Amino acid sequence: MMFELKGFLQQQQQQGLYRIRKICEGMQGPQQICNGKPVLSFCSNDYLGLAADRCVAKSLQQATDKYGVGSGAAHLINGHTSAHHALEEELAEFTGRERALLFSTGYMANLGVVSALLDRNDLVVADKLVHASLIDAAKLSGAKLQRYKHGDMDSLTSRLKNNDAKKIIMSDGVFSMDGDIAPLPEIINQRDKKNTAILIDDAHGFGVLGKHGGGCVEHFNCNEDVDILVGTLGKAFGTFGAFVVGSEDLIETLIQSARSYVFTTAMPAAIAEATRTSLKILQGADDRREKLRYLIKKFRQQAQQLGLALGDSSTPIQPIIVGSTEKALAMSETLAAQGILVSAIRPPTVPEGTARLRVTFSASHTEKQLDKLLVALESVL
Ligand code: PMP
Repeated sequence: MMFELKGFLQQQQQQGLYRIRKICEGMQGPQQICNGKPVLSFCSNDYLGLAADRCVAKSLQQATDKYGVGSGAAHLINGHTSAHHALEEELAEFTGRERALLFSTGYMANLGVVSALLDRNDLVVADKLVHASLIDAAKLSGAKLQRYKHGDMDSLTSRLKNNDAKKIIMSDGVFSMDGDIAPLPEIINQRDKKNTAILIDDAHGFGVLGKHGGGCVEHFNCNEDVDILVGTLGKAFGTFGAFVVGSEDLIETLIQSARSYVFTTAMPAAIAEATRTSLKILQGADDRREKLRYLIKKFRQQAQQLGLALGDSSTPIQPIIVGSTEKALAMSETLAAQGILVSAIRPPTVPEGTARLRVTFSASHTEKQLDKLLVALESVL
């Protein structure tokens, strides 16, 4: 007989950590139907409003006429189509790198990269707040994992001191639950150390930061100095999947030995085609980025006037730090009762005592919708 699971489930419930999925209908966008009710959502990562973009969707439809739906096998068998290949070349050009490699998800990209490059003799030095997939990646590789205090370069330096092991320093570009941007120039300074590669996961920076949406490396003008750059396609790109860009040798190494690349089915070719369209739109999306900046600025000004405890973020991820899990959940539920969807983020996703509402903005939000959010937030204070 199967072992019992009820104890765990009850414990999750007692601690306010039980997770429940909403059932949503219709296109991704500020207005959706969730659990049968219309809602105004501020919780998606569709920062540029491309997830339901007509041109992107049209490319997907046309590509399914050409390629069908399933890719049938892994990239190394017969799942790698001219659509995937063209997208990789375009991503390499977009990011100014020798090569790009597609992965089926960002989670798998991180697992694949770190476990292909390091083993138990090596070291990972990671910001305390990196995304869970980077931590899991370090664990899977078997490398020793050291965390440095969030954004604290003295703490990073101390972790590197007297350590000649082969190592990867890793950080999110834009932190997923805090919205702040990693201090890339300072992190890069640590690179003089031999045997050290820098990995930046810019899942939330691509499309949003930089004049052409090139993310945090464009923002800081430090592209050359980041050895391994990871991006996801399910956020500002509005599609699905992920990519890693870097040198010819890096990408060839990943093709040979990243297990989450080798042993999994390729993303559907039609998704790759749709992403080629979204990549074009994203590069020229100055108007959408401008709109986002406007919404963020107005939100921050007004939320501060309301006395909300905002994080130090200039990106579309705007946490309102609440503290206790119960309070964050109660606030999120009260907002939901008013038809406004803002996620409560609780441990273990964020450190204990820092439960928060995670407000995210999209270029497809209107100013009126932002005003509605602010009125609702005032009512839950
Ligand atoms: N990295 C970061 C920083 C993320 O926020 C996420 C997704 N939330 C991922 C990786 C995983 O990407 P995907 O959803 O494509 O698996």
